[in-house]
Amino acid sequence: MSKPPAPRTRLRRMHEKAACDRGTLHAILDAMPLAHVGHLVDGAPVVTPTLQWRTGDRIYWHGSSASRMVKAALAAEVCVTVSCVDGMVLARSGLEHSVAFRSAMVFGRATMLTDPEAKAEALRQMMERLFPGRWESLRPMTAQELKATAVLSLPLDEASAKIGGPEPEDPPEDPAWPVWAGHLPMATATGAPVPAAGLAPGLAVPDYLTRFRWG
Ligand SMILES: Cc1cc2nc3c(=O)[nH]c(=O)nc-3n(C[C@H](O)[C@H](O)[C@H](O)COP(=O)(O)OP(=O)(O)OC[C@H]3O[C@@H](n4cnc5c(N)ncnc54)[C@H](O)[C@@H]3O)c2cc1C
Repeated sequence: MSKPPAPRTRLRRMHEKAACDRGTLHAILDAMPLAHVGHLVDGAPVVTPTLQWRTGDRIYWHGSSASRMVKAALAAEVCVTVSCVDGMVLARSGLEHSVAFRSAMVFGRATMLTDPEAKAEALRQMMERLFPGRWESLRPMTAQELKATAVLSLPLDEASAKIGGPEPEDPPEDPAWPVWAGHLPMATATGAPVPAAGLAPGLAVPDYLTRFRWG
C-alpha cells in the first residue's frame, strides 16, 4: 500500500525517481541485506555497515550488546540506508553519467528487543532471509550468546525509496555527439561454496547456497 512521504522523506532532487509504493520499498530492503546505519557518536556522524532484514513493516539489525553503534543507535534517531547497484550509466557528457540503482532510506528512533524469545525469533528470521531452513540445523544458541547480541528494530513509518534507471538522461542536443553511450549492467556474482576446515564428513552443499542471491 502506498504511503505519502513525510516532510523528511519527500525526494527533492530528482524527485521523479521516487518510488512511493510499499511494495517497491519492501523489494529493495529484501534484495539487499547490506545496510549502513547513520548515527551520532559524541555529536559527530558515524556510518556503520551491517546487515538488515525486514519483517512486515519493520527492519531489524543486530550487533554486539557492547557495540558503540548499538548504544548510539538507541540514544538518538538513526538513518539506515540500503543500496543496490545495478549498473553504470554512460552518457554523452560527464555531468549526465550516473549509476543505475535502487535505494532506500529509513529514518526514526530504533528500539531494542528485550524479550529473549522475541530476540531469538528475530535472529531466526535473519537466518531465514539469508539461508532458508538453516536455522533449524544449527547448534542451538546459548543464553549467553543471546545476551551478548542486541537486536535493533526500526519501523518503516518514515522511509523512502529511489530508483535510478539505466538510460542516460542526455539533453536533446547531445545524442548526436559521437561517443558511445548506454549502460553497463552489473550484478554481484557468488562463487562455488568452499567447505570449512574440519567439516564433518558426508555433508552435501545445502540447496539454499545454490539459490543464494545478493542484490
Ligand atoms: C549507488 C548510488 C549512486 C548515486 N550517485 C549519485 C551521484 O553521483 N550524484 C548524486 O547527486 N546523487 C547520486 N545518488 C543519489 C543520492 O543517493 C541522493 O538521492 C542525491 O544525492 C540527492 O540527495 P539530496 O540530499 O539532495 O536528496 P533530497 O531529495 O533532498 O532528499 C530528501 C529525501 O529524499 C529521500 N532520498 C534522497 N535520496 C534517496 C535515495 N538515494 N534513496 C532513498 N531515498 C532517498 C530521503 O528520504 C531524503 O530525506 C546515488 C545513489 C546511489 C544509490
